[in-house]
Amino acid sequence: MNYISTRGQGGSVSASKAIMQGICSDGGLFIPESIPVFEKDALGKLVNMSYKEKAKYVLSMYLSDFTGQEIENCVENAYKESSFGSENSAPLKVLGNSRNVLELWHGPTCAFKDMALQILPHLLTTSLRKNNEKRTVVILVATSGDTGKAALEGFCDVDGTKIMVFYPNNGVSKIQQKQMTTQSGNNVNVCAIEGNFDDAQSGVKAIFGNAQVAKELDAKGYFLSSANSINWGRLVPQIVYYVHAYCEMVNAGNISLGEKINIVVPTGNFGNILAAYYAYRMGLPVNKFICASNANKVLTDFINTGVYDKRREFYTTASPSMDILISSNLERMLYYITDGSERVAELMAKLSKEGMYALSGEETAKLQELFACGCCDDEKTAKEIGALKKEYGYTVDTHTAVAMSVYREYLEKTKDETPCVIASTASPFKFAASVIEGLGESVEEDEFENLVSLAAYSGMECPEQLATLKNKEVRFSAVCQKEDMQAMLYRFLNM
Ligand SMILES: *Cc1c(COP(=O)(O)O)cnc(C)c1O
Repeated sequence: MNYISTRGQGGSVSASKAIMQGICSDGGLFIPESIPVFEKDALGKLVNMSYKEKAKYVLSMYLSDFTGQEIENCVENAYKESSFGSENSAPLKVLGNSRNVLELWHGPTCAFKDMALQILPHLLTTSLRKNNEKRTVVILVATSGDTGKAALEGFCDVDGTKIMVFYPNNGVSKIQQKQMTTQSGNNVNVCAIEGNFDDAQSGVKAIFGNAQVAKELDAKGYFLSSANSINWGRLVPQIVYYVHAYCEMVNAGNISLGEKINIVVPTGNFGNILAAYYAYRMGLPVNKFICASNANKVLTDFINTGVYDKRREFYTTASPSMDILISSNLERMLYYITDGSERVAELMAKLSKEGMYALSGEETAKLQELFACGCCDDEKTAKEIGALKKEYGYTVDTHTAVAMSVYREYLEKTKDETPCVIASTASPFKFAASVIEGLGESVEEDEFENLVSLAAYSGMECPEQLATLKNKEVRFSAVCQKEDMQAMLYRFLNM
């Protein structure tokens, strides 16, 4: 099975080439030529498999030019007990009948991005080997906080790779910033930019799209690739945990095999929720996807009206990993709800030129058939954190709280009691100050004191990798203007 561009002009390439390239030559995103479907009794078999076995099963359906042994190696190296704290990389916490919380943050950087970024370097280096690529791959990342650290951790000292991360100065949490600026490894670099996440993402995209840069890099034995969620190698490992969550619900006796579920996802770049959509297209029984946004509610408006309009104020919120106005992975969704690549290319051209586009009535209806949505500002986020602690004795981070709050309103409005999986995307300790505020306790100036007090308030243990950050030395303190990102990259590569 090959991969093609959402915009129709990128040709057709193998899975390994799609992972190496990251983005298509026509500016579109890689999608599988056709979406594989589970065999009739597959879900019944998956129910009894470990996380790693499920990962091998699902990945094999998509990465058709990888051998079974190659997939096995990638999976075994990624989902180690020592990295995720247990054999089960994504435990399901059942709070009540309709709230099944899929905890995706037990990996090395305490956010769900680890689920994909622990395996992406293995998928990528395997792809390089398969295609006889001798150049060094340079991973260029724009991050709103969590991707950067997870990518740095995943690629740290991986042979044949270098990685450079740009993040918005003052646009990430203190813990996130310290996580990135103290990163170890001889192949890593981190730089803050004066601007917001969209500036960082646009800057990275401009470097990717610059043929002159590609030529100059090539002359030095480098080529660029992406670890952002536009890379197919990021998306495919995320499909696994929705299948896993479903199986866990069956095993817990929460649902019977074949019964439909709802899925709520706190959404920014639309990668996580899109992975759930692929699981559904493969045959996972899903009733509704509920897309939750923070105050940057461009997706809520889009799902409600069919109009995508990024021309609006950008808010820096307590859930910074969702502070996004250009939701890149939505492009893949557009491919599935419209007539295909010509229409996607037209909509994307309009977005780039005018900052907005509008779906037809028919397209909007198709979107709304599957997707519900809602948004939640910082005030409601804090309230939800307090409410969940009171009702269930359970503490969530700000992003998960956005999802929980949107789900609470969805339940009230629709009375749809379909058993529901809520993606929990970060450890509460990653956003300690905001979480403590939500719990109604007092916040200290020093974020590391907050980690200690949050452990006491929540009854949870602070992840060691966060607790020990305090004494780590800052290695990367550079801040650049957004015009200077390419120069910073060249400096890192000694060019
Ligand atoms: C990245 C991130 C999100 C948003 O996920 P998308 O795939 O970009 O929609 C939500 N929560 C946390 C904690 C994240 O790190």
